[in-house]
Amino acid sequence: MILKYEHEPLDSEHAGGNFYHVCRGRIQDTALSVPPPDHPYECTECGIDLETEDFSLARQQGWS
Ligand SMILES: [Zn+2]
Repeated sequence: MILKYEHEPLDSEHAGGNFYHVCRGRIQDTALSVPPPDHPYECTECGIDLETEDFSLARQQGWS
């Protein structure tokens, strides 16, 4: 698992839910925004590229 999606139905401020990178098995505290397709988010810690499709998948099933 490299990405976790958390959706809080009661949290109107983050109505779309939040994405969190799972870095070396640890869920990071900082929520990520979905990157543009040609510019994946690269984690400087573990070197993983988080692509737009990873975010789409995570939104569907809660993780990717
Ligand atoms: Zn990482």
